[in-house]
Amino acid sequence: MNRRDFLRYLSMGAAAGLTLPLEQVLAAAAVPGNTGANGRVVVVGGGMAGAAVAKYLRLWGGTGVKVTLVEPNAIYYSNIFSNKVLTGDTTLAKLAYNYTALKKNYGIEVKTTSVTAIDPTSKQVKLADGGTLPYEHLVLAPGITFDALSVSGTIGNKAKIVHAWQAGPQTVSLQAQVKAMTNKDTFILTIPPKPYRCPPGPYERACVVADYLTRVKKGGKVIVLDANNGILAEPNNFGKAFTSIHKNITYVPNAILNSIDADTGTVNTAVGSFKGKVINAIPAQRAASIITQSGLGLANDTTGKWAGVDLLSYESTAVAKIHVIGDSHASGQPKAGHIANAEAKVCADAIVRAMRGESPNPNPRTNSACYTPITKTTASWLSVAFKYDPALKTMVPAGAGVVESATINKDNYEEMNKWFSNLMSDTFA
Ligand SMILES: Cc1cc2nc3c(=O)[nH]c(=O)nc-3n(C[C@H](O)[C@H](O)[C@H](O)COP(=O)(O)OP(=O)(O)OC[C@H]3O[C@@H](n4cnc5c(N)ncnc54)[C@H](O)[C@@H]3O)c2cc1C
Repeated sequence: MNRRDFLRYLSMGAAAGLTLPLEQVLAAAAVPGNTGANGRVVVVGGGMAGAAVAKYLRLWGGTGVKVTLVEPNAIYYSNIFSNKVLTGDTTLAKLAYNYTALKKNYGIEVKTTSVTAIDPTSKQVKLADGGTLPYEHLVLAPGITFDALSVSGTIGNKAKIVHAWQAGPQTVSLQAQVKAMTNKDTFILTIPPKPYRCPPGPYERACVVADYLTRVKKGGKVIVLDANNGILAEPNNFGKAFTSIHKNITYVPNAILNSIDADTGTVNTAVGSFKGKVINAIPAQRAASIITQSGLGLANDTTGKWAGVDLLSYESTAVAKIHVIGDSHASGQPKAGHIANAEAKVCADAIVRAMRGESPNPNPRTNSACYTPITKTTASWLSVAFKYDPALKTMVPAGAGVVESATINKDNYEEMNKWFSNLMSDTFA
């Protein structure tokens, strides 16, 4: 705190006749006073989308916007960079984020519990701890849930088949399995049909595991069984990585997963059966269960798996005053953390405007960048910007559309670390 802030602290306390703790005054300095927006917002889910919307509702809406964030976990583990945990290049502890800054710097109330039901008539949510919370706007940012896989075998062997597509205990389990591989072993990765969380993520995982096997184990193979008909993201860079950088990767398209025999390590697909020591099966995905099982028709896109929203405000097309952001909603935008942060800002802005009786911004823009480690020291990247198309009522690529880096190099790897640190600070700090 500098001298000017300290004098401000004293004058604020004197004017208000209050003796506020220093932290609260500093927090008040970050959040503006009443901006004309008043109301209560409940945010469900404290991941990439939920943490960002909570922060920006306060930063842009000011003290009149009361924000409560409901999240069952006290610690959020970033999925971004979690592939590097598998190879020992980082740890889950280094990818851990808490909610202290959101509480302290922006005055967000955080409840460490889950939302179990939504009542849009009385405008309140039920909590797993027995409580209820009223809202004027509800923002759902609960991420994804996974469809069941057909896996046979003993309980012990079945437990080894993990997706590790939500950073946490499964990431640790898969890391141990990769570490135990020998130079004769095969790692099988199955990719679900699109849309799934993080389009380049599985290809990135194949690269870092293949690199680890070559560098550390001096041998070992990776088989990528992709349910899609080709590489979905960065086809040039991953195509190059699979053919000339990591010669120990075999890429198999159209490999729709049928079943897994965990006892024999056999993966049965539409294009044949494959055997491996470690099977990393990423299941098909849909919006988190609070959306698909709410009974409110929130999962109302054409597939019934994702929430349909008005992309000017991310308000549900099924239920008024409920907004859905991040991986749970349906749009042409990728399911990724960077763009979840951008969607959160569009949503926060629209809610603050609505509280002031204004219309949402008619021209929202979002963007996504994704850096992908290809080896322990090199990376590539992918970026795309979106603009709103009023005729189609959807977000369409703007400018050059999807762009991938021309090269895979060390500079990209260094940029990647900076990009990650900025994105996570903008979301959680
Ligand atoms: C291996 C991997 C690598 C990735 N790499 C990148 C990358 O390089 N760049 C990028 O942009 N994206 C990347 N992603 C994707 C990114 O992690 C997700 O797109 C992003 O986390 C989505 O944000 P979200 O807020 O929608 O969901 P999440 O971040 O999953 O957050 C959802 C939160 O909601 C909570 N929740 C769920 N249900 C409830 C409930 N009923 N009540 C209260 N809380 C609830 C959950 O506990 C969770 O904390 C990667 C993903 C993976 C798996």
